[in-house]
Amino acid sequence: MTAFWTEADYDDHELVQLVHDRKSGLSAIIAVHSSHLGPGAGGTRFWHYAEPKDAMRDALRLSRGMSYKNAMAGLPMGGGKAVILADKDRTKTPEMLAAFGDAVERLGGQYVTAEDVGISEADMVAVSERTGFVSGLPVEGKDAAGGDPGPFTAMGIFHGIKAAVRHKLGKDSVKGVHVAIQGTGSVGGGVARLLAKDGAKLTLSDIHEDRAAALADELGGKSVAPDAVMSVACDVFSPNALGAILDDEGIGRLDAPIVAGGANNQLARAGHGEKLAARGILYAPDYVINAGGIISVAMEYLCKRHGEPCDINEVRKRLAQIPGRLDEIWQESDRSGVSPDVVADRMAQKLIGR
Ligand code: NAD
Repeated sequence: MTAFWTEADYDDHELVQLVHDRKSGLSAIIAVHSSHLGPGAGGTRFWHYAEPKDAMRDALRLSRGMSYKNAMAGLPMGGGKAVILADKDRTKTPEMLAAFGDAVERLGGQYVTAEDVGISEADMVAVSERTGFVSGLPVEGKDAAGGDPGPFTAMGIFHGIKAAVRHKLGKDSVKGVHVAIQGTGSVGGGVARLLAKDGAKLTLSDIHEDRAAALADELGGKSVAPDAVMSVACDVFSPNALGAILDDEGIGRLDAPIVAGGANNQLARAGHGEKLAARGILYAPDYVINAGGIISVAMEYLCKRHGEPCDINEVRKRLAQIPGRLDEIWQESDRSGVSPDVVADRMAQKLIGR
């Protein structure tokens, strides 16, 4: 029998907690990959998985991603993630959220949670009634950091896309640059709006096709069916839905010189970054470009812990450092011939002492 902790995705996780609450029906996994730089911080995903092992794989990969992301964002936080295993109807009750909050509380601060796919700000408020180890809560006033991380993530990706366009296409602006966006939810929708303001040409896609079409109408872009977006001939393909879309088949279909978007774990497995590089496609490592949300969430959490209001300018300053980090990775990749995902992993591993 293969021991669980020898499996590749386990990758020396410090803690993996299975949570089951019979009364509310909650089933969840809380994973903390590394606390080298601080408490394991990362959002909670609410998702229906075909098999429990898919949920475990997601939790482990997302949690490791958070270790790398927080380190590369220069935050004093480790990496963690939670997934709540939803039923087919995605039934979510106040009792389940309360039981989840209790589970986070029992870990005594080893894990700090926030929103991820399927979890709203209101859900986090419910969780916060049971634990203080939570962030991404509503904030009062426009000048305070915190709240829904989606817009901050979108802003960081927008900065990152501009950096990629500069690096690969030698253009200082995204005016007229064609970006195909997969997923028009909190992050993808925000990226689309910011790009539209700067005159980019947009092609949008979502499994909720009406959502993509409505946003395309509003922003003056086009919408395409979900299975068509990866083969759109464009300057930038921006994945902002779910992970593992960059597999052999997906990479083969791409007709864009740049991949830069917010979805976590875009590469289906190690080696796919090299495939992108071999096709001459510039890749923005996902956990570097999509760090905007965790920057806001972490600043909110740390300020709250110190009993201070958090200045949004501090978050903006840190968001503006994302392009510089990407440039550093791409320059090292150009110099060494090592693909950007591997360069980023090596930098992150050094920072978390692995
Ligand atoms: P969301 O639920 O608001 O939006 C996701 C959108 O993707 C939805 O509109 C959904 O219908 C669509 N979608 C799902 N599968 C699709 C497919 N196959 N093709 C096209 N569209 C599809 O979630 P979000 O907060 O915008 O997060 C999007 C991605 O960004 C996720 O991978 C998430 O982990 C990652 N991310 C989010 C944040 C954040 O702050 N919200 C931070 C970092 C990373």
